[in-house]
Amino acid sequence: MHLPTSLFLLGLTAAAVRGQVTRTSEKDEAAIHDPDTECQPYVYPPVEKLKSSFPAIWEYASKILPNDSAAQAKYASFKDSIPNIAPKGTLSGDITGVKYDSNADPDCWWTGSLCVTPKLAGLKPDIADVPEPKTIGYGFDDGPHCGHNVFYDYLSSKNQTATMFYIGSNVLSLPLEAQRAVADGHEICVHTWSHNAMTATSDEGAFAELWYSIQAVKLVTGYTPTCWRPPFGDVDDRIRYIAQQLNLETIIWKFDSNDWAQADGTQSAAQVQQNYDSFMDKAKQGQFDQRGAIILTHELNNFTMQTAINNYPKLAAVFDHIVPVAVAQNKTQPYVEADYQFPSFAEYVSGTRQTNGTILTSASVSASKSSSQTGSASAPSSSSDPSVINKQNAQSGAVTNSVTLTPLASLVLAFGFFWL
Ligand SMILES: [Zn+2]
Repeated sequence: MHLPTSLFLLGLTAAAVRGQVTRTSEKDEAAIHDPDTECQPYVYPPVEKLKSSFPAIWEYASKILPNDSAAQAKYASFKDSIPNIAPKGTLSGDITGVKYDSNADPDCWWTGSLCVTPKLAGLKPDIADVPEPKTIGYGFDDGPHCGHNVFYDYLSSKNQTATMFYIGSNVLSLPLEAQRAVADGHEICVHTWSHNAMTATSDEGAFAELWYSIQAVKLVTGYTPTCWRPPFGDVDDRIRYIAQQLNLETIIWKFDSNDWAQADGTQSAAQVQQNYDSFMDKAKQGQFDQRGAIILTHELNNFTMQTAINNYPKLAAVFDHIVPVAVAQNKTQPYVEADYQFPSFAEYVSGTRQTNGTILTSASVSASKSSSQTGSASAPSSSSDPSVINKQNAQSGAVTNSVTLTPLASLVLAFGFFWL
C-alpha cells in the first residue's frame, strides 16, 4: 500500500502551496465549479474533530477501535453465530493457492462462481437485477470523488438520481461531497471502509469495515445506510451473514462496464464504450423485458464520470426507466431513519423526486454524533487529509478532474479476470 503515502505527501504539498480552502456547507461545496479549487483539501470541523473515533483513512479496519462500546456490543451480539467459513486469499485480492470447489460452491462465493443465492439458510439473496422491466437500477461505486460536481450537476439537470456506493474513508475525507448526494436525492449505500477483498478479512475486520462505513455516512449525512456493495463483488456467506446482522442488503450486478479499467490501461476507452454498447444491445434484443438490469459503473475518475454522462442519453433511449436501486425495489425507506422517504417506483417514473429528508447542518452533525455514538473526540491532528484527491488535470470537457490512482486500482487488477 504505497499509494496512500504518496497521496498524503501530495496533499501536504498541495495544501502548502494553495492554502486551505474555505467551505463550510454542502451548498458551498456544490457551488464550486473550478476543478482546481474543487479538489483542494479542506477541513470540515464537525467531522475533523471526530476522526479519532474512526479507523485510519484508507487502512484496513482490522479491529473495532478501543473504547468503542457501541461497536463492541453489536459485534458481541452475533459473533458466536458467524458461519465458520475460513477467509480466502489476501486483502489485496490474491487468491492464488486458494483451494475451493467452485462447482459445489459451498460458501456461495461470488468471486469463484458468481453465486448470488446463499447456501446458508436465513440469508437474503443478493440483489443482482431489479424487478421492474426495461429498467436500470442506476448506481456508481467508489465515491464520493472530490471532482464530482459537474457529474452531479449533469444528473440533476436530467432530474436523475442514482445509488451511490460510497467508500467510508472517502466519506470522512470528503464530507460535503457526501452530503451533496443526500441533498440531490441520491441513495447512499456503503462500499466498505478501505476497499479490500472482504472474503479475505477476519470476522472482526469484516464487521469493522462495514460498521465504520455505516457510521461515517451517519455522521456526515445524518442517515444510516441499509445496503452495501462488496468491492470486486467479493462476497460469500460469511460476509453476507455479517452484513445482514448490520441491516445491510447486498447489492451486486450482472453487467460490468469495466469503466474502472481504462485508468490502468487494461481496457481502452473504445473498449469501455463497446461494453456499454453491448449492454444496450442486450436491452434492444429484449433481455430486460421481464426484469431490469444493474450495470457496474464508477464515480472513480474523470473518465468514468464523463463516460457515464456520454452514455446517459443512450441508456435513456433504450430503457424505459432509469432509477436508483432502492426505487426499482419499491424500497421507500432507504435508511434506518424513518423521516427520509423515497418515492415508490410508480411515483418516481411519474416525476416525483421530492423526499422529506433534511440535510444536516454543521451544528446538527456535531449534535448527532455526540448523542448517538461513543468515542473520544480530539483536536484535528492535521490540516491536510491523506486521501483527498490531489492531482488536478484540467482539461476541456464536462468533467475536468482527474484522480491519482487509489489502492483500488491495484486490487482491481488482481480480481479483474473474474469480472464479467
Ligand atoms: Zn469499488
